Amino acid sequence: MTRTLRSFFISTFWLKSLPILALLYFSGVKSESFGQESEPTATKPTSSIAATDNSAATRNASGPGVSLATLSQTDKDTGIASLILQYQADQKTLQRRFRLSIDPIGIDYKTKMLEAWNSKLAAIDFEKLAYDDQIDWLMLDSEVRHDSELLASQIVRDEESKKLIPYAEVLLLYVASKEHGSVLDAEDAATLLDDIAAKANATTTDVSKTLKCDDSTAATVAVHAVSMIDQLTRQIQDTHRYHDSYDPQYTWWAGKPFEAAKQAIAAHRKVVCEVLAGLDENDTEKIVGVPIGAVAFEKELRHAWIAYTAPELVAIGEYELAWCDERFKEAADELNLDGDWRKALEHVKSLHVEPGDQPNLIRELAWEAIRFLEGNDLITIPEMAKQGWRLEMMSPEAQRVNPYFLGGDNIIVSFPTNTMTHAEKLMSLKSNNIHFCRPTVHHELVPGHHLQYYVLERYRPYRQLFSSPFWMEGWALYWEMQLWDMGFATSPEDRIGMLFWRRHRAARIIFSLNYQLGKWSAEECVKYLVDRVGHEPSAAAAEVRRSIMGGYGPLYQAGYMLGGLQLRALHAEIVQTGKMNNRDFHDSILKENYIPFELLRMKMLAKPLSAEQLPAWKFHTQK
Ligand SMILES: [Zn+2]
Repeated sequence: MTRTLRSFFISTFWLKSLPILALLYFSGVKSESFGQESEPTATKPTSSIAATDNSAATRNASGPGVSLATLSQTDKDTGIASLILQYQADQKTLQRRFRLSIDPIGIDYKTKMLEAWNSKLAAIDFEKLAYDDQIDWLMLDSEVRHDSELLASQIVRDEESKKLIPYAEVLLLYVASKEHGSVLDAEDAATLLDDIAAKANATTTDVSKTLKCDDSTAATVAVHAVSMIDQLTRQIQDTHRYHDSYDPQYTWWAGKPFEAAKQAIAAHRKVVCEVLAGLDENDTEKIVGVPIGAVAFEKELRHAWIAYTAPELVAIGEYELAWCDERFKEAADELNLDGDWRKALEHVKSLHVEPGDQPNLIRELAWEAIRFLEGNDLITIPEMAKQGWRLEMMSPEAQRVNPYFLGGDNIIVSFPTNTMTHAEKLMSLKSNNIHFCRPTVHHELVPGHHLQYYVLERYRPYRQLFSSPFWMEGWALYWEMQLWDMGFATSPEDRIGMLFWRRHRAARIIFSLNYQLGKWSAEECVKYLVDRVGHEPSAAAAEVRRSIMGGYGPLYQAGYMLGGLQLRALHAEIVQTGKMNNRDFHDSILKENYIPFELLRMKMLAKPLSAEQLPAWKFHTQK
């Protein structure tokens, strides 16, 4: 056996043996790796959350090769909250450790980790948990199942796109020397890199000969392949840097082949991007995304505790949109504009402050909202929350994605800058007019996102794992609806400002669902926002770009109004029936941290929970 062949054998042995090591770890034989709490002996749990055979255990029973993890002393002391933190840490560890989504060893670890958690939760006697622990168990159980579904769909998606990257397997062998410490002889490294270059070049030549792909499914597969090639490119560069110069043999053998492989991959990426995905990378206006499709969308709805189908949600959006249309007509009549909402909107868009005055306007609006909330005893606003925000200006680049201002810890104001073209300035002035800003300020600051961030860090912070647009955006929108009902807007211009946003949130349900289900293109979504909501074209494009390319989940856009409607229904059930006053109701929602509103409702109404709890709440009523 030559030295080269022997090291190939050794590296193959390593690659084959690593999954076995993974299996040993998850079977409980090896327990010091990868940070999860060590469980040296299978002690018999005796606490209220002890492992027993129950219905949940039967439902969640896992496959072979995974130990039914027992709970440590720490778990018993701190309940499910501690498990939530551990699960979050396990996820982070594996994400940090395995950076390539197609790495089979990483997939194996993630699969076993999820199976172990499924078993761990199944081993807990739900009936014996305290009420808040039951809520935490339900949320964690839902999270683990959702993560398992996401992993399964990621594997399918990657496999499909991998067919466009014939050098992926060879590249995995090369990067295993760094990722997993497999022995890689310098000459073998050169051979692998040479093979990568040859396979990439051959594919590039083949693809270049084919015509542009008009099939949208194939284009979607290609868009995903581009992001996989980017991952692989980063890994091959990292691996080269890891060996180069430190190993003189490596540098002598692999220096040139590495450069050739890198160039070949770059050329292949270009044809996949331009020819197969139909993307022009110089076209920064193009909105590029991958809809998740009906099956995955249905799973997202269950995970968000929404007991409606996608078509039912679109119908809710349409109903709320029609309500806004009626109120718009009334406001336009008050302005003697013949009930024409477009004329009314154009009138309001022309009412902006002079350049330079926008920050003062935002400050005034923030304090106006705080005075209104306190004056009506609606919610507790701690002094630290009231004073704890700053004002920043949004860069022109960021305004391409965020045409309106953003909030949270601070408020970030969108307003035209001297670097914009004349047309861009005029459009931005219209989008950031006084009456559009008024509801946006309390949405972003108090009682909206700023106050939410304040409490998220102080009450039940372990629930960060369950971060959700329904809780975050739903709450902020709920206040827009509540303040409307309480007469916060007194002039027709202020009412139009509020209605513009409310209609936009209803439209968000409609356009985002149609996009995610593959029914509308991004361009159709932009046109819808311009025609139906009255956005300026640049603001509509930015909104759609943000929702598709901004890293938001598929339910983010729908979460605003649906979450708001859930809280509205809960307010009717709890406050309007005299079970709680406004202040206690609102304070207690915030102090729960992230929680699906259906579970919050169960708690407020003191309804019993079961481990088989599924979303069932029909919160929308047509008045
Ligand atoms: Zn928001």
